[in-house]
Amino acid sequence: FAVTSPRGRFAPSPTGRLHFGSLVAALGSWLFARSAGATWIVRMEDIDRGREVPGAAEAILATLAAFGLASDEPVVRQSARTPLYAAALARLERDGHAYRCWCSRSELEPFDGIHPPACVAPVRDRPPAWRLRVGSATVGFTDRVLGAQEQDLRRDVGDFVVWRADGACAYQLAVVVDDAAQGIGEVVRGADLLDSTPRQILLQRLLGLPQPAYAHLPLALGPDGRKLSKHEAALAVDARDPLPALGAALRFLGQPAPTERNVHMLLSRAAREFDPARIPRTAGMPPAFAAARN
Ligand code: GLU
Repeated sequence: FAVTSPRGRFAPSPTGRLHFGSLVAALGSWLFARSAGATWIVRMEDIDRGREVPGAAEAILATLAAFGLASDEPVVRQSARTPLYAAALARLERDGHAYRCWCSRSELEPFDGIHPPACVAPVRDRPPAWRLRVGSATVGFTDRVLGAQEQDLRRDVGDFVVWRADGACAYQLAVVVDDAAQGIGEVVRGADLLDSTPRQILLQRLLGLPQPAYAHLPLALGPDGRKLSKHEAALAVDARDPLPALGAALRFLGQPAPTERNVHMLLSRAAREFDPARIPRTAGMPPAFAAARN
C-alpha cells in the first residue's frame, strides 16, 4: 500500500460555469486521488476579483456535487487568504528574491514581454508590482502523464509577477502557498498550466516548501481547434443529467466508461479501474455529446 497519500485538489476560478474541460480536470484529479485512497479537495481560486462572474463559484460547486465530486473538506477560498500570501511575499523580499517593478506592458514589448533581470522603467509615484528574480534557473520535473519537462525560466519567462500592481496576489504565488498549506501531494490539472509549473517549482524552492508530484491532463479543444473557453457556455455541462458527461470525460481521459446508472457507483468503479498510463498525451475534441446538446 502507499506510504504517503497524495492528497489531490481541483482549483477552479469562478469566471464562468463548469464546462467539459474543467470537468475533465475535476474528474482527473479526483481519480488520481481516489485510486490511491487519498483525500480530494476543492479550492476556489477567486483572488482575481475583476474576472469573477457573480454566482459562478456557487454554480461550479453545485455542478460538481451533482457529478458526485464534492470536496472532502470545507472549500477554501483564496479571497480570504491574502495575509498568508503577503507573508510569503515578505519572505521572498527579505531573502532578496522579489523586487518592486513599475514596468508597463508596452515598455516590455521590445523584450517580447519577458522581463529582463533589471527594470526598464524608473521608480514611479504609484503602487508597484512585485516580480520574482528567476536568476538563471532551468527547472525540470517529471510529469506523471507527459514525462520529462524542462524550462529555461530566464529565456522563456523572465522575472515574473508574484504580486500585481492592483494589490492582488498573482496566481503563481497563491497556488504555491495554498498547495503547500493544504498538504497537496499531487497536482493534477489541464495541460494549459504545464508551462506555469516550473515557475511554481522555483517558488517552492525559494520558499522552502515541498514539491508535489504533477500530472497534466490533455486539453479539451473546441470545434475551432482551440482550447475550450469558459465563455463557450454551450459546452457547459448539464448538472441535471451528469451520466453522459461523466462517461464522455472518462473516455476523454482514455479510461473505460462504466455503464452504472448511478453517479456514485460509476465513480467508485472508475476509481478502481483507473490507469494513468491510458491518459492521452495530446489535446482532443470532447466526444460528440457536447455538440449533440446544442
Ligand atoms: N485556477 C486555475 C484555473 O482555473 C487552476 C489552478 C491550478 O489548477 O493550479 O485555471
